[in-house]
Amino acid sequence: MKIHEYQAKEILRRYGVATPRGKVIEDPGEARAICEEMGGKCVVKAQIHAGGRGKGGGVKVARSLDEVRDLAGRILGMQLVTHQTGPAGQKVRRLLIEEGADIRQELYVAMVVDRVTQRVCLMASSEGGMDIEEVAAKTPEKIHKVFVDPARGLTDTEADDVARKIGIPEASVAQGRAVLQGLYRAFDETDASLAEINPLIVTGDGRVVALDAKLNFDSNALFRHP
Ligand code: GDP
Ligand code: MN
Repeated sequence: MKIHEYQAKEILRRYGVATPRGKVIEDPGEARAICEEMGGKCVVKAQIHAGGRGKGGGVKVARSLDEVRDLAGRILGMQLVTHQTGPAGQKVRRLLIEEGADIRQELYVAMVVDRVTQRVCLMASSEGGMDIEEVAAKTPEKIHKVFVDPARGLTDTEADDVARKIGIPEASVAQGRAVLQGLYRAFDETDASLAEINPLIVTGDGRVVALDAKLNFDSNALFRHP
């Protein structure tokens, strides 16, 4: 089962993962006031059950309050086509209006169930923001993996090691650890089949923040999560 980005972020926040401030709207008339609340600079993000929204025109940075109103009006209701939606696209019924981020680094972190080892596999890379499939094909050495022991969970040492390997600066490694361990606990406790943060960013002032979030759940376990 898939959920929207804003719902995935709500869950991740409960596990201590930092996200930008934001609000969901269904009416473009609300965009302006929310952006004003966020300090006047924000990002308009289409909420659909597919990725690739950035390249498909579903994620736009607004530089003014008039522009945010305009973008919200144009994106809400559109049939958004991305490389993951198929040619028919998906209708945009909700928008996430988020405060703009000061991006210093864009990283990639995700978890999936690895059937061979029967463990949760953490995959992480310094090459965030772009197609991870392309990174895997061209520079596989830039993807780091940890197969998590289910009895111990993701340890401090494993998390710190991955945080350093993907280039999180030393002063922010503790925050990187918190994100990775929070993501693992969220994955485990919600019976997720995929949890992905792309991009995970380091901000100009050294904060580690989930700028995007994707969570899919194992349908066989839905009865455990009414
Ligand atoms: P996806 O394309 O569906 O995965 O959507 P994302 O949420 O990952 O957004 C696509 C891209 O938009 C990201 O990789 C970022 O580079 C960019 N982006 C998202 N939020 C912001 C922001 O607050 N500021 C800036 N400058 N760029 C952003
Ligand atoms: Mn993304």
